[in-house]
Amino acid sequence: MGTGRLSIDLSAIVSNWKALASLARVDAAPVVKADAYGLGIGPVGRALANAGARRFFVAYAEEGFTLRRAVGPGPEIMVLSGHMAGDARALAECGLTPMVNSVEQLTRHLESLPGHPFGIQLDTGMNRLGMEWAEWAAVAEIALSQNPVLLMSHLACADEPDHPMNPYQLDLFQQMTDGLNVPRSLSATGGILLGPDYHFDLVRPGIGLYGGLPFEHAQPVVTLDLPVIQVRDLQEGEVAGYGNTWQAQRPSRLATVSAGYADGLLRSLSHRVTLWHGDTPCPAVGRVSMDLIIVDVTDLPEDPEALTVIGPNQSIDQLAEAAGTIGYEVLTSLGSRYARSLRE
Ligand SMILES: *Cc1c(COP(=O)(O)O)cnc(C)c1O
Repeated sequence: MGTGRLSIDLSAIVSNWKALASLARVDAAPVVKADAYGLGIGPVGRALANAGARRFFVAYAEEGFTLRRAVGPGPEIMVLSGHMAGDARALAECGLTPMVNSVEQLTRHLESLPGHPFGIQLDTGMNRLGMEWAEWAAVAEIALSQNPVLLMSHLACADEPDHPMNPYQLDLFQQMTDGLNVPRSLSATGGILLGPDYHFDLVRPGIGLYGGLPFEHAQPVVTLDLPVIQVRDLQEGEVAGYGNTWQAQRPSRLATVSAGYADGLLRSLSHRVTLWHGDTPCPAVGRVSMDLIIVDVTDLPEDPEALTVIGPNQSIDQLAEAAGTIGYEVLTSLGSRYARSLRE
């Protein structure tokens, strides 16, 4: 087997979901957009549904279609992009609940699928999705007469607990929704950790389920091991990789492992990433190639068969830090070439 081995711990995802739900003390609807953050919407959705998740969020109706096939008719599936032109059939046939985010979408929904459940997204300052105050004020009465199942908004800075944007958005959300008697949702993973004021009736954890910050107590979900394809000795002064950007400062032994930027190990990791042999760090050298990374294994007592890039000594967030990005992007970039195995 030449490709990297990506192992996904579904039971850790379920544990993280239960931990976040018990922190929030309200229903926690897993966010499984972007193929469950790259880990597989089918198996992840099924594991969470089997563990008792009754509501899910996806980004697009197309993802809802895939999730519905995986989890069957029971769970409610809510679509964050709302009701886009051409979505009516998928929404109806798959029983998806759009979170409409504009008057245009609300009109489209009420005209094309009268009586079909929907929710409403409100913008409280992020300026990404949802109706703003004036728009909401203009249509609230009509919208509320059609019994929306949820009023929701999204926090822009929830991963920074002391950011003044958090109480500002909370206050605005309350002003826009207080007294309307419709279930409400404001928080993703970060907001769950901000405390009970932010929880309302439903929370929407994503990254925390998959073992990422800001949920510090998350159980790790992913390990990634890369087989060694070839090992060689270099004399002091020899170079390695594209552009000759690394030069041996001592007689060295280099291992070439099988994954590269086409597999989500971003090229920005060049000269910055460390792989692990058990608890021994082995620095990568030179540039990350499309399918290959070169690693300095001089200090190992024996040649390794594989090296670990995500595991006990390197979390997705530590890898992200080395790449200059966030854990979310590390996960969603994991390529399709790995041999995937699921732990139940
Ligand atoms: C992606 C997303 C979430 C989940 O966010 P995490 O930070 O991954 O927990 C929740 N709500 C909305 C609207 C989102 O776009």
